[in-house]
Amino acid sequence: MIQLIRGFKDILPGEVELWQHIERTAQAVFAAFGYSEIRVPIMEKTELFARGIGEDTDIVEKEMYTFEDRGGEKITLRPEATASIVRAYIQHKMHADDPIRKFFTIGPMFRRERPQKGRYRQFYQIDAEVFGIESPYLDAQMIYMLHLLFERLGVSHTQAHVNSLGCPVCRPNYREALLALLDRVEEQLCPDCKRRKSRNPLRVLDCKVPTCRQAVTEAPAIVDFLCGQCQSHFDVLTRGLTQLGVPFALDKRLVRGLDYYTRTAFEIQTTMLGAQSAVAGGGRYDGLVQSLGGPPTPAIGFAIGFDRLVEILAQEQSVAAAKPAFFIAALGDAARQAAFQWCAQLAAAGAYVEMEHGDKSLKAQMKRADRLGAAYVLIVGDSEMAAGKAMLRDMATKEQSELALEGLVEKMVESLSGRKAD
Ligand code: ATP
Ligand code: MG
Repeated sequence: MIQLIRGFKDILPGEVELWQHIERTAQAVFAAFGYSEIRVPIMEKTELFARGIGEDTDIVEKEMYTFEDRGGEKITLRPEATASIVRAYIQHKMHADDPIRKFFTIGPMFRRERPQKGRYRQFYQIDAEVFGIESPYLDAQMIYMLHLLFERLGVSHTQAHVNSLGCPVCRPNYREALLALLDRVEEQLCPDCKRRKSRNPLRVLDCKVPTCRQAVTEAPAIVDFLCGQCQSHFDVLTRGLTQLGVPFALDKRLVRGLDYYTRTAFEIQTTMLGAQSAVAGGGRYDGLVQSLGGPPTPAIGFAIGFDRLVEILAQEQSVAAAKPAFFIAALGDAARQAAFQWCAQLAAAGAYVEMEHGDKSLKAQMKRADRLGAAYVLIVGDSEMAAGKAMLRDMATKEQSELALEGLVEKMVESLSGRKAD
């Protein structure tokens, strides 16, 4: 038997309802803040991610699914959505008539990591990006939007962790101070961090190896090195979060695994996920649009780990699968043929109806109707066909009533809209 690829998974009926519920909720919340959906391809030229995410990042160094297609072009399954959305923003000159654009997208991402709970090789993100606004009020609003979404979904125990990563003016000073510390603790660093130290020292702060975490407990805080502008950006952000009532914590060791971030960096963490505590991450990337060939454009975005969000919510709630409004229990050929047509007409009118296509006893059909959770069962056999009426059974009250076959479909549709009204 052929099994699916390690680290990949199926989302089956029974689970998918929760995914759909989350998607609908996210779409509604994002719409209220003016975000439009954008859909970008799941493959891009490798170069886009190498330049956009950064050569020295875990993602680009060891996690991407990259291959040559039959024409010899190097392509990559997207590990995240931001680089593609930036590419689309530039390629379609979306900055030309209005540089301010707000997007969201929902879809699969691919990273070849070690699979474990909350970590997959194909996983899903709910992603949002805003271009053209430099104000820290936007940063606060975006984190508020995430907070609101989690609240709407009923996710408890979340907290926003925020930090500032400074900018090209102040970060070099911090980098030097950090390097001085890393020199002192070099012995305790993992091989990856020894390498990161020379190429991208901030990334050491993001390492999950316990000895590295221990080694950097004494590291200086970036927020102590901010230039005046970055400092006031950060102050407005934290004040804004307080004004909007978003619970947050300053997390001076929070950096992000991608190179393009400037100033605001944030994560939404939860205590409900064990080791994989981050359910969303994001930040400002004011330099990325320009570095990918667009005009200088401030930008900020986040990505929610959809799979992790589902895991949290599945602990607390479930979303019921759709249940048929009617089950038609047809007995005999004539009744089955009639039922076959009613089913089509009812579905066309928007009612979900099931019937038995085989030659089954009434008892077996009632059992199936019950299993499917049908609200009503319409019982019709040869004698009912001859008499021109069927029996309608309310599965909740067990009451039965007669229904004339003439105008049956209209009556059933009517009874449905009546039920929806109350
Ligand atoms: P982590 O530190 O957990 O590896 P990350 O910094 O690599 O996360 P981002 O690139 O910021 O993650 O992606 C945003 C969110 O996507 C994360 O907070 C997480 O919830 C989710 N995510 C990232 N990688 C995976 C994965 N392999 N499987 C499932 N979800 C993931
Ligand atoms: Mg990662």
